[in-house]
Amino acid sequence: MSNPVLEVAVANTGFAWLDYLPPIAQPLSNDTVVVGRRVRVSVRQRELIGVVINVKATSEFAKLKPVIEWVDEQPLLPEALLRFYRWLSDYYHYPFSEVIDMALPNGLRQGLPAALTPITLWQLSENKRTVDPNQVFKRAPKQLALITYLQQHAPVSSTQLASQGWRRSLLASLAHKGWLETIEQLPPTAEASAQTQQADLPLNDQQQIVFDAITKQLTDYHCHLLHGVTGSGKTEVYIQLARRVLQAGHQVLILVPEIGLTPQLVSRFSQRFCEPWVTLHSGLSDQQRLQAWLQAWQGSARIVIGTRSALFTPLPQLGLIIVDEEHDVSFKQQDRLRYSARDGAIVRAQQCDIPILLGSATPSLESLANVARDRFQLHRLTTRAGNAKPVNYQLIDIRRQPLEDGLSKPLLTAMQQRLDAGQQVLLFINRRGYAPVFLCHACGWIADCHQCDAHLTVHLNPDYLQCHHCGYRRALFPSCPSCQGVDFISKGVGTKRLEQRLMELFPQYPVIRIDRDNVRRQQTMRTLMQQIMQGDPQILLGTQMLAKGHHFPQVTLVGVIDADHGLFSTDFRGQERLAQLLLQVAGRAGRAQHAGDVLIQTHAPEHALLQTLISQPYDVLAKTLLTERQHALLPPFATLALLRCDAKTLPQAMTHLTQVKQRLNHRENPQLAVLGPIPAPMQKRAGFFRAQLLLSSVSRQVLQQALTNLSQQKDCLIMRPHLKCTLDVDPLELF
Ligand code: ADP
Ligand code: ZN
Ligand code: ZN
Repeated sequence: MSNPVLEVAVANTGFAWLDYLPPIAQPLSNDTVVVGRRVRVSVRQRELIGVVINVKATSEFAKLKPVIEWVDEQPLLPEALLRFYRWLSDYYHYPFSEVIDMALPNGLRQGLPAALTPITLWQLSENKRTVDPNQVFKRAPKQLALITYLQQHAPVSSTQLASQGWRRSLLASLAHKGWLETIEQLPPTAEASAQTQQADLPLNDQQQIVFDAITKQLTDYHCHLLHGVTGSGKTEVYIQLARRVLQAGHQVLILVPEIGLTPQLVSRFSQRFCEPWVTLHSGLSDQQRLQAWLQAWQGSARIVIGTRSALFTPLPQLGLIIVDEEHDVSFKQQDRLRYSARDGAIVRAQQCDIPILLGSATPSLESLANVARDRFQLHRLTTRAGNAKPVNYQLIDIRRQPLEDGLSKPLLTAMQQRLDAGQQVLLFINRRGYAPVFLCHACGWIADCHQCDAHLTVHLNPDYLQCHHCGYRRALFPSCPSCQGVDFISKGVGTKRLEQRLMELFPQYPVIRIDRDNVRRQQTMRTLMQQIMQGDPQILLGTQMLAKGHHFPQVTLVGVIDADHGLFSTDFRGQERLAQLLLQVAGRAGRAQHAGDVLIQTHAPEHALLQTLISQPYDVLAKTLLTERQHALLPPFATLALLRCDAKTLPQAMTHLTQVKQRLNHRENPQLAVLGPIPAPMQKRAGFFRAQLLLSSVSRQVLQQALTNLSQQKDCLIMRPHLKCTLDVDPLELF
């Protein structure tokens, strides 16, 4: 090629790409692959790292600078992967260069070589191994302790020594005296645990049917949805399918909602595979993440288990993707690139022409709709594996009931009984991001919009109620129009306060609180889990985090403290989420030999959703919800995009969105609906005022076209320090 032009994506420059010439010192030969290689370039006097995304013959710019140098000899990002990143960029309308930047581990972003770096390990010097240190270090207890530690554990990495509290200076001084030496070693490939490998369980009949159906179609793209009640043995099916694919020489990617919080799942996988595997999640250090990424990239890691961002990992021999708990909202990223890892995984599988398996006890309505449209193939596991018993549900009407920080008498009594009988109780607070409604505690009345079929949303500070459909706004009601009561419930119960109260009410039993504030670290979670597994009577108190994937054999009672927030959520997904959560949470109880009871506190015991939930399988409920969505033209029967604007004042945000709305010309486009702008329910945040515009269409294509137009127009989706627009395609939360 004679003097080709390189298109280089460089993050944080504001340009989609920049044109460069090949480096002067290293001209290109005809057959070198350059797309996907990193280069060092100069942008406005700064040296930055970019990735070549295209090669072309000419540029529209006259004077091009040459690239400073190649960082990689070989492409770091294969073209197929770049194609996938491109899809993410196009679909979520987020700059390609930023998608690439997000996909790379920190070290690679900064230009480190794509090679595993050896780590330094410490051990006793060979000639000192037979010397008794007790004599030598009589007066130096710290040194003696370190030597003794190394006698038992060496070789040990510097990081591990540091985490045990050993100082570098101590290591250095002992090395100086000739007692310690270091060796360099490549990091252990992924963990391989051949010694501990456990045998596969013989599949039961239902599992076998699912397994056979899927193994028949392992060679090309198919999307399978495995709907199996909690404890039905989905994980066993994942493991055996993965094994098939690994045996055929392929890699397997397993996406889970929150790995750091589900050590049980990871340890289950690790006990079953002898192939090297890595985990990728937010709890890793930069170095650990880089190593894991490179191992997947080289193909030395055969299994990657990770949270949503593991979707970006290069996997040259990818043969199967599994998405566990596919309905889980944590698969959707809520900032920067607002992608859905589940949806992205489906596209990646399609592009690679490989099978993908989505699993859940409570599949999302989106996935069920895709089954109905014959896009996904449905498989079922309807009974619990082993001999665990189904749970019993009971609703507690809490209207007019005196509550102890949200706890009713019947719930407290049931708790006392179970604890005294030596069993564990799980209390669940349903708190995640529901826009609160205005609810009368005495009669269960809820403030509705008089113009729409919708509940009003409570806005606080300043206090008012607003309809998120038409924008109607009014003051809070001083008393209930239905019963004249003056006691209103507009926010949830806090876990911390409840924990205090529980300690007072049940002083003889420990209370374990598991929520995001408390359990930031995987280690903390592990310790708490161990304490729970010991099986002594205790109260587990937690949020959504407790509902996921864990197995608590001693829990026989689950109390749901505030079902109403989901029930009356002004978010159209509120009821779906509530149903999923309640079933997930209920799935924690009575998994072993004990039967489990689930008590649900509510102001609306006669509500159709709750009634269906306690008496019918999830499918029936899902069908009802889907019909409602279809009538209301909401997802999965329409696609949405939420455009939010943050500005220094509310009028600025509103004005900007009004202008954007005008540019959308939606009156000429009958297939596009634009709602708003309205102030966001959380109107003020971090010093900014926020307003939002909701775009909706029954055609994904029409919506995408409108968004593309917007992103191509100047001054629409702007990002300035005082006025910021963020676009959320397929938003999960509308506020
Ligand atoms: P899920 O992933 O659907 O919640 P799990 O895979 O965790 O279900 O299975 C629940 C329990 O049943 C686990 O303890 C698991 O070891 C056991 N189990 C699963 N499949 C079988 C099987 N075929 N035979 C015996 N026990 C099984
Ligand atoms: Zn309204
Ligand atoms: Zn009332």
